[in-house]
Amino acid sequence: MNCIVCGAESRIGVIDKDSCTHYCRTCHNTMMADRFGYDIPEYPQEITVKPSQGKQRRFSVEYWAYPDCKILTADEIGPSHYHCLVVGAMDRPFTEMWDELIRRLKKQISVKYVKKDGNLGKDQKAVGYLRYNKERDDLDYVVDGFPYPWYEFIAQHIDNYEGWQMKIEFIDSSDEVE
Ligand SMILES: [Zn+2]
Repeated sequence: MNCIVCGAESRIGVIDKDSCTHYCRTCHNTMMADRFGYDIPEYPQEITVKPSQGKQRRFSVEYWAYPDCKILTADEIGPSHYHCLVVGAMDRPFTEMWDELIRRLKKQISVKYVKKDGNLGKDQKAVGYLRYNKERDDLDYVVDGFPYPWYEFIAQHIDNYEGWQMKIEFIDSSDEVE
């Protein structure tokens, strides 16, 4: 599918009654700006972020405007897959969303939940996100930027904690996790 405005590859289909119109991200954001009065922010599509220790990581950044909110996402470029999503209400300044994105990315890549020996660190916890893996047709649990088949991750760690309590909590992808 191609963008109805510029012919680039479509990234989003907008459904109106029975028809679906395809847009690339730029044309979709321009349409949203025209319709809802959003500014179109200028920002680098690719950034590098440095953790408190260790090597810097590269991220591809995308901004999307919608009728009720706007979002900013960062996805790591390279073999690991750190990911961050920031949501703003229509009137939230873009610079504030940008600052939140950078701050959260730095924090994420500065923490390591799984130690070199494969066990969990001293806090006995892991924070990650669930992502569909097309090749396996199942979900990966991405921790420290590394995708584990979700059941393997749980199976690998659960034996170490017999007799402990276990907390399972699902958190919206735009919320910051402590
Ligand atoms: Zn387009």
